[in-house]
Amino acid sequence: MIRKKGILIILDGLADRPIPELDNLTPLEYAKTPNFDYLIRNGISGLVYPAAPGVRVGTDVGILGLFGYNPFKVYWGRGPIEAVGAGLVLNKGDVAVRCNFATVDEEFRIIDRRAGRIRSGTNELAKALDGMKLDDDVVVNFKEGTEHRAVAIFRGNELSAEITDSDPGIPAEGKKIKEVKAITPGFTFADKTAFLFNQFIRKSYEILKNHPVNQERIKNNLLPANILITRGAGMKMKVRKIAERFNINASAISGETVVIGIAKIAGFNPVTKKGMTSNIDTDLELKINVALQELEKNDFVILHIKGTDIAGHDNQPLKKMEFIQKIDSFIGVFLDNIKGKDDIYIACSSDHATPCRIRDHTADPVPSFIWGKDLLTDNVTSFGERNFFSGGLGKIRSNEFILTLLDFMGVTYKLGS
Ligand SMILES: [Zn+2]
Repeated sequence: MIRKKGILIILDGLADRPIPELDNLTPLEYAKTPNFDYLIRNGISGLVYPAAPGVRVGTDVGILGLFGYNPFKVYWGRGPIEAVGAGLVLNKGDVAVRCNFATVDEEFRIIDRRAGRIRSGTNELAKALDGMKLDDDVVVNFKEGTEHRAVAIFRGNELSAEITDSDPGIPAEGKKIKEVKAITPGFTFADKTAFLFNQFIRKSYEILKNHPVNQERIKNNLLPANILITRGAGMKMKVRKIAERFNINASAISGETVVIGIAKIAGFNPVTKKGMTSNIDTDLELKINVALQELEKNDFVILHIKGTDIAGHDNQPLKKMEFIQKIDSFIGVFLDNIKGKDDIYIACSSDHATPCRIRDHTADPVPSFIWGKDLLTDNVTSFGERNFFSGGLGKIRSNEFILTLLDFMGVTYKLGS
C-alpha cells in the first residue's frame, strides 16, 4: 500500500440546532465557509455519532473515539485522563480524580465551587497538598491545572475507583459537599477508598484554610481556595497505543489537558504552546502554523480547536458562527501552504454537539468529512448539519470515521488474507 499523510481537525462541540436569530439555521449553516466548502465539494461527507445513537458524551469520550478507540471498551474515567494530561505518572492500581479548588464555609457548605475562578497561587497551594499521607499508607500526588482545576492520584494497596463524587454539581451554592461513598457499599475496597477520599477532603480544608495564599486572597476581598472537591475517579486501563497499532508517527495539537492526556494514551506526541487557550481567543494562526510543521514530520496530525464548544455552552450563536468563519479563513491559509502536494488527506469532525440553546452536549450526530485527491466525491457542496444528511459516508461512529481516514492513508490492516 502507498502510505499517505493525514490531518484530522476536531472542532469541539461544533454541531448545533436551528437558531431563530439565525433564520432557523445553525451557526455552522449560517457561517460563510468557502474553504471548508471547497474541501467538502471535493471530498466525502457524512454524520458521525460520537459514541452511538442517543448516547451523550463528554469531551473525553468523544475525543477517545476520534483517536480510534471504542469508548465503551477503553474509557478510563476523566480523572486518569486529566492526570496523564497534566504530566503525572499513573501506575497500575492508582486512583486518579479531578479536583476543583473551591470555597466553603465552616460547615462545608459551598460558597463557590471554583474559588472565584482562582488564577494565581494554586501552584503554592498544590505544593502544600502534594505528598499528603492518609491512613493505610496511602499517599496523594497532587498537581494544579488551569485556574481552579487540579488532579490528584491516590497511591496505595487495594484501592478502587468505584466511588461517588464529592462535587455537588451545578448549581452548588449553599449545598454541602457530598460525602464520598462506594457505588456498591459492602466492606469492599471501594468503601475503604471512599473513606480515604473523605479524609483527603477534610485534610485539604485544614491545610488550605489558613494558607498564606488564602490569607492574602481574603485581605484582597477574594474568595479563599480553602477546600478541594472531587469528581470523575478512575484507574488506568491497559490499552494499545493507536500510533503503535498502525505503525504511524503522530502528533496532537491542543490547548486542553484532556486532549493532551488522550494523545499520550494513544501514543501521539502532544503539542501545546502558549497562546493555545482552549477558548475562542486561541491563537489560530499559531495552531495552523504548528499543524503545518507537524505534518512535515509526521504521518498523522490531530488539530483540536475548542472555542466552538465554549460558545455553545455560553449560548452565543453569533460568536460561534463568527469563530467558525475565523477558523475557515485559517483553513484557507493551510490550503495555500499544501498546494501542489497530493499525498495529504484532510478530515474534519467533532467530539459531540453543543447546541447553543441547550447549553450542554447532546447526542446529535456531528457533520464530518474527508478530503483527498483520489476520493469518490458525493453531492454535498457546503458545510452544515442538514447538508450532510445525504453524504457519501452515511452515518458512522467516531472510531469508524477515523479508521476510514487511516484506511485512505494506507496504514490499516487487511482482515483475512
Ligand atoms: Zn467537547
